[in-house]
Amino acid sequence: MKVAVYSTKHYDQKYLEHVNASYGFELAFFDFLLTETTAKNAAGYDAVCIFVNDDASKAVVEELAALGVKYIALRCAGFNNVDLDTAAALGLQVVRVPAYSPEAVAEHTIGLMMTLNRRIHRAYQRTRDANFSLDGLTGFNMHNKTAGVIGTGKIGVATMRILKGFGMRLLAYDPYPSDAALALGAEYVDLKTLFTESDVITLHCPLTPENHHLLDAQAFSQMKDGVMIINTSRGGLIDSQAAIDALKQQKIGSLGMDVYENERGLFFEDKSNDVIQDDVFRRLSACHNVLFTGHQAFLTAEALTAISETTLGNLQQLDRGEHCPNQVTA
Ligand code: NAD
Repeated sequence: MKVAVYSTKHYDQKYLEHVNASYGFELAFFDFLLTETTAKNAAGYDAVCIFVNDDASKAVVEELAALGVKYIALRCAGFNNVDLDTAAALGLQVVRVPAYSPEAVAEHTIGLMMTLNRRIHRAYQRTRDANFSLDGLTGFNMHNKTAGVIGTGKIGVATMRILKGFGMRLLAYDPYPSDAALALGAEYVDLKTLFTESDVITLHCPLTPENHHLLDAQAFSQMKDGVMIINTSRGGLIDSQAAIDALKQQKIGSLGMDVYENERGLFFEDKSNDVIQDDVFRRLSACHNVLFTGHQAFLTAEALTAISETTLGNLQQLDRGEHCPNQVTA
């Protein structure tokens, strides 16, 4: 099988090539995104392998089908960037990596929480400049605080496990309650209760058309003053402009974002020599109590290995006409 791997970074290539030694696929690595313009590069390939910011919308899927591409292999869990209806109509099969390392994302989530809470990012800057003043660095004990977890699937539960270790009260919101979350002592509540009672709110649900801007001005207005919000899920879950207003009003006390609604074309790239045109991103990143990481929550050696193994395993199953449990359907 010939596979066109879009949006390849050095680490993707390294782990995919290593795992591919036992599959023997013909992998071509493209360092650019899949878009309407770059879809033509998939000519002659059986499969495209894509990541979170690649565009597999209607027009792109149509182009891929016309080129004879049969499979779209997502090397991520989310599939909001793929038009599944068009893929199904044109006979393209779509597979994903539903779980590669929930702990990788959960641990990064906690990293953002603790950095923001104890102002470690600010302390790092100060101590490098021999400024050992503690003014402005006061945090709060996680112990006995309330964490609100939105989405209690694999990552949500892995995060809760750590939060429970801090001695936090766990509130949860998910249309499908999880036994694992309940076993950790989580209390399922409606969103309003979660917003009203949580000191820390962390997002672990997928982005769907229904929950776009789940955290908007109205949601922020219901939260505690000084609430901490962490998003390692998908950028579109937070209305960034409304977040700026809530930060200015000191409603949001700190905001950690590994994902951002307009991250496409920005994250995963070195933009240090460019002038960033996105004023919303600029405004947010200028706040001392906002911490961005560039969609790196998944980035551990264990996760990259698991992503490569599952992706190539998925493609092998499709190639052999076997049932693939990781197939995504409309
Ligand atoms: P999962 O499918 O195991 O769990 C998702 C949970 O969200 C499910 O229990 C589902 O019922 C729930 N849910 C769906 N819609 C909801 C809503 N509107 N409100 C509340 N809950 C809702 O998925 P997971 O493996 O835990 O991953 C969660 C998300 O994390 C993914 O969808 C993806 O967007 C994101 N993710 C980010 C990274 C990263 O590097 N930042 C890496 C992997 C996954």
